[in-house]
Amino acid sequence: MRYRNLTRNLLASMKKWPLAAYAGIALALAATALSGAPAAFAAQQPRNIIIMFADGAASTQWDFGRYSSQVLRQQPFVTTDVVFREGVLGLLSTSPSDAYVTDSAAAGSAMSTGFKVNNGAIAVTPGGKAVPTAMEIAKSKGKRIGLVTTATVYDATPAAFSVHARSRRDSQGLVDQYLALEPDVLMGGGADYFLPESVPGGKRKDGKDIIATFRAKGYQVARNTAELDAANGTKLLGLFAGDDMDFEIDRDPAREPTTAEMTVAALKALSRESPNGFVLLVENENTDTAGHANDAAALMRALWAFDDAVKVALEFQRRSPDTLVIVTGDHETGGFSPTYALKDLSTLSSKNRFYSGDAQLRLLEPITASLNAMKEKLGKQPSAAVLDQLLSLHFPGFRLDPDLRELILGQKTRERNFSYLPQNVLGRMVARQTGYYWGTSGHTPQPVPVGAIGPGAELFRGYQDNTDFGKHLHRLILGDWK
Ligand SMILES: [Zn+2]
Repeated sequence: MRYRNLTRNLLASMKKWPLAAYAGIALALAATALSGAPAAFAAQQPRNIIIMFADGAASTQWDFGRYSSQVLRQQPFVTTDVVFREGVLGLLSTSPSDAYVTDSAAAGSAMSTGFKVNNGAIAVTPGGKAVPTAMEIAKSKGKRIGLVTTATVYDATPAAFSVHARSRRDSQGLVDQYLALEPDVLMGGGADYFLPESVPGGKRKDGKDIIATFRAKGYQVARNTAELDAANGTKLLGLFAGDDMDFEIDRDPAREPTTAEMTVAALKALSRESPNGFVLLVENENTDTAGHANDAAALMRALWAFDDAVKVALEFQRRSPDTLVIVTGDHETGGFSPTYALKDLSTLSSKNRFYSGDAQLRLLEPITASLNAMKEKLGKQPSAAVLDQLLSLHFPGFRLDPDLRELILGQKTRERNFSYLPQNVLGRMVARQTGYYWGTSGHTPQPVPVGAIGPGAELFRGYQDNTDFGKHLHRLILGDWK
C-alpha cells in the first residue's frame, strides 16, 4: 500500500523530469520501498534529517579543523568533539562506477540514490536511468526539503541530492528542474542561471527570469545578508552571488551570509508548518575549493565556518530530539598532508628538520586572502612588483623562494597533477614554512568519515560504501527497510 502511494506521488512528479527512464525509477523504488519495518528500527525513524556536508573533507581535514579551532580560536570543533566522539562514526568508500577517484557529482549521486554512477553524472546511472534522489523520496513522503550550499545552487552536490542530469555542466537544465521540484529552501550562489543573458550577470539562453518565477510561486527572495535576516516565510530562495559564494577568508559580511546564518534561516523556514518533518542538506563547498588550490589558510577558515553551522544543527536537535544530524563529506581533496620537513635544502640532517606544530599553525593566522583571490588580484600576467606587494600585504612572514617565483612569473606548473596556477605554487610557498604540504590539486580516494547523532544514527556505523549511505537515507526517510 505504502509502495503504491509512493509510486503514484512520484508518477505525478515524473512528468516534470527530463529523462525518460521511468522504468528504472520504479525498479529502484521497489528495491527501497519495502513494507514491514521492524519495531526496533521504526522507533528509530527521525522526523527531520539534517545532512551537514563539507565537500572534499576527510580525516586529515577534520583533524586540522579540530586542533586549529582549539589553538587559534579557543573553541571546540563540534564535528569531531561532539558528532564524531559522542555520535556514531563510520567511514565511506567513495569510488564511482568508472574509476577509483570520484568527482562530487558521482559521490553525491551515490550518497543520494544508493546507486553508483559515472563521474560527472547527476543521479543518472551508466545505463542512462534516472534513479530517485533523497530529496525526491522526501518530497514524496510529504516532507519539506531544503538545499543550502556555498557553491552555486546547481553545483554537483545539491543537484545530485535532488534532481537528474547526464552532465553536471547542464546548469540551465538543473535550475529548470529546481523550479519543477520546488525545494522549500534553496540557498547559495549561482544567480547567473536564474537570470536571462539580457540582464547584467545573467547567463540564461531562453530569456527567462527564474527568480521572478520563484517569487510568483510564493517564495521570499533574499539577495544579501540583510534580506536573509528579514526573511520570515516558509519558502525561501537565497541567491547571494552570481556564481560561487566567497571563501570565508575573503567574504564581505554585508553581501554574503555565513554557512551558519544560512543554516539558521533554512531551519527557521523548514520547521514552520512541517507536519511530516523535513530533510535539509547544508554544504560548504569551499573546503573542496581550498583543497584544489592547496590553500591551508582558506581551508582552515572554511572548516571553522562549516563547524559553526554544525553547531546550529546540533542546537536545533537539542530542541527537537527527533532530528538526525549527519556530518560527512564526499571525497578528500588535495591529498592534504601536514608533515615534518627540512627547513631548507642545505643538509639532509635531522637537525635541519621541523615538525609542523603550534608555531607553524600560527603562521596561517595572519593570512588575509585566499589563493583564489590572489589569482584574481595578480591578473593574467603577474608582474614581480605586484606579486611582492600582494605577498607582503596578505601573507606576512612568508618568503617566496626563487624557484617558485619563477614558476609564478613564467606561469608554469611543477607537475601534471597540479593544475591551478598560481594557487598551487603559492600553496607550496606556505607548505615550505608550515609543513602543510599537499599531494595533488585534485581529489583522492581516501575514505570519508560520516558522523551521525540522533534517531537512526546507528545505520552509519562502521566501514561502508557511499551507496550504503544513500540506501540508509532512503530507509530513514521512508521508514521502511529489510
Ligand atoms: Zn572538487
